[in-house]
Amino acid sequence: MVRGRIIVDTERCKGCGLCVAFCPKGVVHLAAALNAAGHHPAHLHDPDGKCTGCTLCALVCPEAAITVYRTFSVKASVTAGGVCALEAAS
Ligand code: SF4
Ligand code: SF4
Repeated sequence: MVRGRIIVDTERCKGCGLCVAFCPKGVVHLAAALNAAGHHPAHLHDPDGKCTGCTLCALVCPEAAITVYRTFSVKASVTAGGVCALEAAS
């Protein structure tokens, strides 16, 4: 399974809301607080772990303010012969 998360550089963010509009999981929001330039910066609110790391938010951001991270879960099993097999965990 692939899980994603994003980090927003809040001081680069202009609060345009493009990332909010394009996130297919609806987990990007604009903060109520203002950054130093007076914009409401985007942030991830994802209590249910819906972000897939699809990178759409980062691709549409005109300020390149979003970094996307992905985590992959794998299952490992070792046979009697000592062969290790990895497969994607569901
Ligand atoms: S990486 Fe994809 S799912 Fe995650 S916050 Fe960005 S647009 Fe949404
Ligand atoms: S697209 Fe970029 S500049 Fe616009 S709100 Fe999102 S992080 Fe901020």
